Amino acid sequence: MKYDVVVVGAGIAGPIVARNVAKAGFSVLLIDKKPAIGTPKQCAEGISIKVFEKYDIPYDRRFINREIYGAKLYSPSGYELELRYKDVSGVILERKVFDKMLAYYAAKAGADVLARTEALDVIRKDGRVVGIKAKHEDEPIEIQADVIVAADGVESMIARKAGINTYAPPHEFDSSYEYEMLIEGYDPDLIHLWFGNEVAPRGYVWVFPKDEDRANVGIGINSDNPQTAKYYLDKWLKENNISAKKLLEINVGVVPVGGFVKELVKDNILVVGDAARQVNPMHGGGMAEAMEAGTIASKWIVKALEEENLALLRNYTTEWWETDGERLQKVLKVRKVTEKLSDEDLDLFIQVLSGADAEKIASGDYGEVIKALLKHPKVILSPRRIKLLRELL
Ligand SMILES: Cc1cc2nc3c(=O)[nH]c(=O)nc-3n(C[C@H](O)[C@H](O)[C@H](O)COP(=O)(O)OP(=O)(O)OC[C@H]3O[C@@H](n4cnc5c(N)ncnc54)[C@H](O)[C@@H]3O)c2cc1C
Repeated sequence: MKYDVVVVGAGIAGPIVARNVAKAGFSVLLIDKKPAIGTPKQCAEGISIKVFEKYDIPYDRRFINREIYGAKLYSPSGYELELRYKDVSGVILERKVFDKMLAYYAAKAGADVLARTEALDVIRKDGRVVGIKAKHEDEPIEIQADVIVAADGVESMIARKAGINTYAPPHEFDSSYEYEMLIEGYDPDLIHLWFGNEVAPRGYVWVFPKDEDRANVGIGINSDNPQTAKYYLDKWLKENNISAKKLLEINVGVVPVGGFVKELVKDNILVVGDAARQVNPMHGGGMAEAMEAGTIASKWIVKALEEENLALLRNYTTEWWETDGERLQKVLKVRKVTEKLSDEDLDLFIQVLSGADAEKIASGDYGEVIKALLKHPKVILSPRRIKLLRELL
């Protein structure tokens, strides 16, 4: 088998790359080890409404569970911060359908798509990677390609086998545990997030409504914690008198929240999405980031193939770092500061911030918000808080 491009992984990043490159007229193969693309999900399924237009994805009710109008944040002592828009701001997807539809759009654009096809290793010739070895429905196959894209998620091994350094220590990952379950008593038009060192160390508990009385209820905590994420989630459910006997699905996953792969390209191999740790380190959302990286990567793959100059692929690293990378580096700084906050600090910040401020902080656009916080009386009185906030300027 010979293609211009082979893409390993049909999550979010992979199908975006495969679709864009196929649209430009090049031959592409998209593979995924799952027998059914998208299943099982490892996601709370929340995404901003902006991505549909930005990445040319149809707003299709088949993969939209629920439209969301904002968010509500809860502090350790129960202070609440609400951000509610008049219009829809985000959606809770059905990823089992969404991922499969993204692969379908790639197939419609001309890409070949093979489910139940697991990449096992790279093929080298004269020291150069010329393709991948895979297993398609238990049969060994070899796929030759000019360009290889590692979009194989957080456990990625293809980039590593090709010689790209994707290593990060355990502390730079969050462990998450999630139930899709029946739950009542929370406004189903908002996503809900609970913070606190006893609630979810370094992370938060989330309720992302998929229905009036059904939601993804999950937690992310630092993965080197002596207790498991499940321990903290079950504790939270118990303390809030929520029955854990209506569980429709249980998902476990790991989220890279500690920084991004430096070199995204080596010769003719590119790494995108979770495989490159391109995730918002503050809230752990990575779908939009995977779409952005996939869009930049596919632009340079098309240019490199058109001009028959694979050296152009390196521009993906440069462009990503100059745009999304720079923004996400700022978000990473915030995450490192929030890790040091006490429950009293969290109570204070949730009391004094506005919803719009919280949104700016999570997206990396926080300069003015931090300057305003530094003038707040309860911050001025605390040299420790001043020091923490100054780290962000
Ligand atoms: C519990 C949890 C909740 C989350 N909630 C959200 C959220 O609400 N919003 C959000 O934006 N993000 C969320 N995320 C993060 C989000 O799921 C990821 O950032 C996103 O899926 C990354 O897309 P990707 O394409 O890089 O990787 P993935 O979606 O992980 O796709 C990788 C694909 O590669 C395939 N694969 C792996 N190895 C091979 C191989 N050797 N051969 C062939 N195929 C292979 C896998 O089967 C998979 O389909 C959450 C993550 C977790 C764990």
